[in-house]
Amino acid sequence: MPRAEGVAPARWREAWAAVDLGAVRHNVGTMVELVAPAAVCAVVKADGYGHGAVEVAGAALSAGATVLAVALVEEGAVLRAAGITAPVLLLSEPPPAAMAEAVALALTPTLYTPAGVVAAAAAGGGALGVHLKVDTGMHRVGAAPTDLPALARSAAAAALRIDGLWTHLAAADDPAQDEATAAQLERFDRARHALAAEGVRPPVLHAANSAGAIAHPAARYDMVRCGIALYGHPPSAAMEGAVTLRPALSLRARVAMVRRFAVDERVSYGRRYAVAAGSQVLTVPLGYADGVPRRLSEVGGEVLVGGRRCPVAGTVTMDQLLVDAGRGPGAAVGDEVVLIGRQGTEEITADEWAERLGTISYEVLCGIGPRVPRVYERGGDAGLSGRAAAVRSFR
Ligand SMILES: *Cc1c(COP(=O)(O)O)cnc(C)c1O
Repeated sequence: MPRAEGVAPARWREAWAAVDLGAVRHNVGTMVELVAPAAVCAVVKADGYGHGAVEVAGAALSAGATVLAVALVEEGAVLRAAGITAPVLLLSEPPPAAMAEAVALALTPTLYTPAGVVAAAAAGGGALGVHLKVDTGMHRVGAAPTDLPALARSAAAAALRIDGLWTHLAAADDPAQDEATAAQLERFDRARHALAAEGVRPPVLHAANSAGAIAHPAARYDMVRCGIALYGHPPSAAMEGAVTLRPALSLRARVAMVRRFAVDERVSYGRRYAVAAGSQVLTVPLGYADGVPRRLSEVGGEVLVGGRRCPVAGTVTMDQLLVDAGRGPGAAVGDEVVLIGRQGTEEITADEWAERLGTISYEVLCGIGPRVPRVYERGGDAGLSGRAAAVRSFR
């Protein structure tokens, strides 16, 4: 297998997240085709949902995405430092103090407050292109529809160029709430018409996240902002199979220690898990400091060993977890264990973890920490063997 060759100590670590950039390209291509003629903006915030922002951005751009988006100025700086010159949209209004740096990095600010407009104008002079955001129902950030015309007027007065107008959908992934989504799109349309009445026609309108892009064609406008779909996961269980996506990330490790008990035993902190006599217990060098939830065993979490599902045995510890390999043939030190991904004909997805844990795949993926080396596959399919890979660790 391609080994972590990064900075110590990760180069010795017998655990890694393999990121299949071929899968990312496939998923981007699928979305590009689905939403055309709308453009695809690849959302690579939170280090590309844990996949590596720079690597995912490169793959996404090569597969037809034309814009990137991040949450923070700092995240935009990482992309620029890697030599990425594509447009980068900031999804949150930068703090006024960060505006000069955002402009220097040629990041496109989203604005939704008068203070943001003032700061952008001061930092960018006349030539700065910005996107305005209107709140149509998510009620997180964005200008109230009633405040939008005044905001646009002050931006225009400050000679800012309004390149885009956008909003964010709160429940596009839930078919039971399609009426709420439709109401948001109606409010968005009213907001842009109110701007048009003042002669402001932002050339790029956008509203859809992955769920909006997939399930609400009316939400596609000129561009969609896709995150989770690019990483190969449906935005919600309700949307499973709506488009053909391939999970890009798998989480793997090598068995560090093996033992077989002659009598019944209890294992790990709190002695919460009972192992039957004759069973083999494997130690796997990944823990909650790496993003494997401490309570994964309690919710029935499993891993793949030798193509077989085996329960996580007891409390996941900070650096290691135990696996109950049962009374079967067993595994040996150095064997590969799959926490997320495929092995043989079995597959455990981040969506399965999410369902067990009462969360969403997003949180599972973002939770895989910087201590886990990322191994990149640039080829077309999953699986590590025999492929050239680039490695990055300890970002
Ligand atoms: C994170 C984010 C997205 C991407 O959402 P997905 O559901 O991952 O496609 C789009 N727009 C905004 C404003 C976001 O914060």
